[in-house]
Amino acid sequence: MENLNDKYEAVIGLEIHTQLLTNTKAFSTDVAEYGSMPNANISVTSLGYPGALPRHNKEAVNMALKVGLACGCDITSYCLYARKNYFYADLPKGYQITQDKTPLCTNGFIHIKKADGSTRDIELTRIHLEEDSGKSIHDMDLNNSLIDYNRAGTTLIEIVTEPVIKTGEEAGLFVSEVRKLVRYLDVCDGNMEEGSLRCDANISVMPKGSDTFGTKVEVKNMNSISNVRKAIEFEIQRQIEANENGETIVQETRSYDAVKGITFSMRAKEVATDYRYFPEPDLPPLMVSNDWIEAVRANMPALPEELYNQFTTEFGLSHYDASVLTEGKEIATYYQEIANHTSNYKAAANYLMGPVKAFLNKNAIELSEFVLTGRQIAELVRLVDEGVVSNAVAEQKIFPALIEQPDKGAQELAEELNVVQSSDADFIDELITKALAAYPDKVEEYKAGKKGLLGLFMGEVMKHSGGKADPKITSQKLREKLEA
Ligand code: ADP
Ligand code: MG
Repeated sequence: MENLNDKYEAVIGLEIHTQLLTNTKAFSTDVAEYGSMPNANISVTSLGYPGALPRHNKEAVNMALKVGLACGCDITSYCLYARKNYFYADLPKGYQITQDKTPLCTNGFIHIKKADGSTRDIELTRIHLEEDSGKSIHDMDLNNSLIDYNRAGTTLIEIVTEPVIKTGEEAGLFVSEVRKLVRYLDVCDGNMEEGSLRCDANISVMPKGSDTFGTKVEVKNMNSISNVRKAIEFEIQRQIEANENGETIVQETRSYDAVKGITFSMRAKEVATDYRYFPEPDLPPLMVSNDWIEAVRANMPALPEELYNQFTTEFGLSHYDASVLTEGKEIATYYQEIANHTSNYKAAANYLMGPVKAFLNKNAIELSEFVLTGRQIAELVRLVDEGVVSNAVAEQKIFPALIEQPDKGAQELAEELNVVQSSDADFIDELITKALAAYPDKVEEYKAGKKGLLGLFMGEVMKHSGGKADPKITSQKLREKLEA
């Protein structure tokens, strides 16, 4: 049977709504805070009372600029806001203030790395600023829908891609890059479950190689990255099958049901004219000078991509290690701090991804709550590198002791715990003599060719040395003795 996935190709464009972590709302001084009592953070402006006037929020523009600059966008120097009109219970003004014809950022791209090692630049159409709606709550009161306007008027940016994404995998990677980026930039917490980052996917299919896109369907309500991927994969198959069955795809908005793993129709898609966009008369134009742009640029933190490149080229880490260590700004910064104090970059990475992560997981704490500094981890790496203690002793004895007494030095603790490795010949010789004397028959077997028994003698010596015997010297000496 012919494979339908070879006959069709999918086209996907994403729209990502990102809630900005501004202190106040987009066009008013209402506090923007998640989790307050319902309808506590509202005012005449966010409720759209007659005569109440919106104003610009500089912090919001700064955050949007950061994202735009990080994506290499062109910045629009003269932005007019528009009203997007529609009626909905959670939209108290009856319109949303947004940027229609003059988005703050245009063009630009986000880089994704696929599982097979290939990479792609996903082009952006635009990033614009707008305000969010309130929230309708349908499941708290049996007979009524409740409305919480705390979110009404809070700041959003919408990141819109060109229709260039081809698979659910690419879409998932794109969303994950966006989430990583906005977290690095401290502009959004990136929480998809709570809706701080919401992704709508526009999906169409067409015969392979065609230059005319099919009719697109918009899918909403995917509250995790894996759901973005699954919803898109489902929708592509649904559209291919519909095509095969001679059905026409209608332009509509569908919702993803994560439990059933399917998309279902919500409503016919509104077209732009339904919204009656017109210029917002109450806000002066937003003028973004070059000086403003440069001031924002000068305060940008290092981006995940730059750190990844530094970690792989300068520090020689593998793709895997560098990916894990740039997953968040916290871990990347911590790693850099260790790397500032050691040149054994690989050992530093292993320490952070091994014992440190295990400790954090076990105690359910974040790196920010961890008592040891990067410098202290580098000190542990040094003790092992210089042969002062074995790797096992450093991990299993000194590391936990240091967490208990972080004011002490690692070397000091090694001495206190009496675990400083000894390359002292007499000390090791004595232990070897004892170990061999304890197993005369095994010595004979070894001499008769059972070389695997070396491990047994090594174990004996290490045990009686309290982990202090230098393993390299011990094994060398053991062999010499046994083969003499
Ligand atoms: P609308 O006017 O419906 O909002 P836009 O042209 O603004 O549509 O595009 C919205 C999103 O849909 C963008 O991310 C764009 O890349 C994507 N898109 C546009 N056309 C298609 C298509 N035929 N198939 C898939 N995605 C598309
Ligand atoms: Mg549009």
